[in-house]
Amino acid sequence: MEPPAVRTETVSPALTDGITEAVASVLPGPAVLHEPELAGNEWAYVKECLDTGWVSSAGAYVDRFEAMLADYTGAAHAIATVNGTAALHACLLLAGVEAGDEVIVPALTFVATANAVAYCGATPHFADSEERTLGLDAAKLAAHLDDVADASAGGCVNRHTGRRIAAVVCMHTFGHPVDLDPLLDVCRRHGLPLIEDAAESLGSTYKGRHTGTDGVLGALSFNGNKIVTTGGGGAILTNDPELAKAAKHLTTTAKEAHPWEFVHDRVGYNYRMPNLNAALGCAQLEQLPGILERKRRLAAAYRDAFAGLDGVRLFAEPDFAHSNYWLNVLLLDRAHAGERDTVLDRCAAAGYGARPAWRPMHHLPMYKVGPRMDLSVAEALYQRAVNLPSSACLAPPAHD
Ligand SMILES: *Cc1c(COP(=O)(O)O)cnc(C)c1O
Repeated sequence: MEPPAVRTETVSPALTDGITEAVASVLPGPAVLHEPELAGNEWAYVKECLDTGWVSSAGAYVDRFEAMLADYTGAAHAIATVNGTAALHACLLLAGVEAGDEVIVPALTFVATANAVAYCGATPHFADSEERTLGLDAAKLAAHLDDVADASAGGCVNRHTGRRIAAVVCMHTFGHPVDLDPLLDVCRRHGLPLIEDAAESLGSTYKGRHTGTDGVLGALSFNGNKIVTTGGGGAILTNDPELAKAAKHLTTTAKEAHPWEFVHDRVGYNYRMPNLNAALGCAQLEQLPGILERKRRLAAAYRDAFAGLDGVRLFAEPDFAHSNYWLNVLLLDRAHAGERDTVLDRCAAAGYGARPAWRPMHHLPMYKVGPRMDLSVAEALYQRAVNLPSSACLAPPAHD
């Protein structure tokens, strides 16, 4: 299939040189895109699991990890899962998404966001992003829904496909919060639940509220490349006690409590996080404030390094957001969009693990055909974005 990026004939050596020089001025040496930092109580907590035999899907660390997550994010409830994709899948089912429905998701996202919709037997309906946040454009979504959605007895229906639109999933791209308030407004107007894919945004807040806690449900990921890791893992956040109970039930094979009998009241999932992984997670969460501090220091160093360079800008959080800067992202000006791959090649040659954003969902074979709005901003962002090495260990030393 055709890659959507276009290589133009006119690559400006000044810009690509400028970018590699700026990266070199920040980084101490060759660096991968993102690596975990295991510098705290990881050994001690995991050893305790091994010593006590509590390694699997029951154990004190799972409860402790969930309590730490709820406390940190301000969510009333956190339910730990085997990975972020499983958390998202469960969120969609819990929000009432059924086979045959459509779910609004950004076209510019990691594939798991769309896949979780497909796992429900539903169809992702792709929406555009805005440059200010790199996430869903609420105004554009509102106009699109005014255009295609019929309010009917069955809810919000796509008048072109006849399918129910059951939910909206937003994603906080590279850790940077979307503009949630206008998005919540659109959802309210159409009676749609908002689910937040906050897989990348642990530690990021929107107007002081932690990402993943404004929607009816939110999903976190603790994969090895995320801001903190459990090896593999995820979590569901919600403020609704009924949904929290249902989330725990659904992710633990929907087994009814009984001293010895196996009774399951629906098709449930074995999505519970093992205690070993939760032990790692507890140790990681203890270090999150320090990691965030260093991530923001690294972002500031990149910002200074790129401040004087024309043709490119380092993405900075909007006023309403406090970002975890999980991945720093460089946006080439539109005129330089064709130079992205040259920049990536140059960075790779210099030992810097720079990466493009994800190929937009509607370019992937399984999502080529399907409902969508105009996706021109997502397309352009894909062609212009370059993620820079962003591990916390790369932060320059603190002054003072
Ligand atoms: C990482 C990620 C996920 C999935 O998390 P896993 O734990 O890898 O399953 C989902 N959505 C986004 C946007 C992600 O970056």
